[in-house]
Amino acid sequence: MKGIVKFKDGKDGWELREVERAEPLENEVEIEIISAGICGSELHLYHDNHWYTPGTVIGHEWAGIISRVGAKVKGFKVGDRVVSENDKNVCGYCDFCRSGYKSLCQNREGGSRENVVGYSKNGGWAEYVCMPEHGLLKVPENTTFDEACMAEPVSVIALALCIKTPITVGETVVVQGCGTMGIICALVARACGAGKVIITGTEDDEAVRLKICRELGIEYVINIQREDLKQIVLNLTDGRGADVVVEASGSPKAIVDCLSLVRVQGKIIAIGESPTSAVEYPYNPAMFRAVSLIFNMGSSYESWKMALKLMELKKIDLKPLITHKLPLSEFKKGFDLLDSKEGLKVIFKPEM
Ligand SMILES: [Zn+2]
Ligand SMILES: [Zn+2]
Repeated sequence: MKGIVKFKDGKDGWELREVERAEPLENEVEIEIISAGICGSELHLYHDNHWYTPGTVIGHEWAGIISRVGAKVKGFKVGDRVVSENDKNVCGYCDFCRSGYKSLCQNREGGSRENVVGYSKNGGWAEYVCMPEHGLLKVPENTTFDEACMAEPVSVIALALCIKTPITVGETVVVQGCGTMGIICALVARACGAGKVIITGTEDDEAVRLKICRELGIEYVINIQREDLKQIVLNLTDGRGADVVVEASGSPKAIVDCLSLVRVQGKIIAIGESPTSAVEYPYNPAMFRAVSLIFNMGSSYESWKMALKLMELKKIDLKPLITHKLPLSEFKKGFDLLDSKEGLKVIFKPEM
């Protein structure tokens, strides 16, 4: 089968290769990939700002149809439309696994970075992927594969904004950054009943991403190079500041700016990665304002179910986020579209 392999550092370290089509283990199914998204962390990988194991098929966001089942699989059959939690070889008995947080398992065979699907174990930018039954979820009938392949990012956001630090009715929420994660954060905040939702971008985002934000009806779409974000937030909150600021841009400046946008005792919710590992942070000002700063990584079984419910119940509309569909062979174009910000959600379609 064909798969997009990263075999060495650098932009020339990628290739669409013929790779072995693995047999599903007895507790696994093989999924024929119908749609597979490019995630922001894979763009970091493209720029050598993410770890991986050379020779791995990349990709951790996908949706597809079960094409083969292992002997001990009970709840799923060939033909089922599925997505899956992207964890393999987790222990099943640590506190994190038992409470549904498999992505945080600390006992993965070979260590925490050795068994991560799409970085160190073959992932979903391929014609097929094999995954264990314990992570599978059925795609609702009214949800397309192109939408469902975003279940992974939505599940990360559902964990952050619906479970861990729930957004409540009437809150003013600022989302910094209008990539896929930022826009989904704004949509989920609205679905949770937020009063005012403000999303930010820069001049580079104007042509595509901020336009999509406006089309989606996000109330306040702010180009921070044209408008004074802090003043707007203060005006909208009677001078108090936002109840919640979601940092989804990764920009070191935006990370620091969260503090000037949030109210006293407000919450800053950090989602996603920054390209730099250390960011200088105004610790004392955060302390004096008694701000909560909450970090998020990965998702949980509960948040995956929520992600699919958000789609099934039409609480969030993901279709406008999809700007490009490409065959696997045009993966470089996919990265370029994201780098230039012409693309928002770029999806690979192996059958193309
Ligand atoms: Zn992702
Ligand atoms: Zn575990």
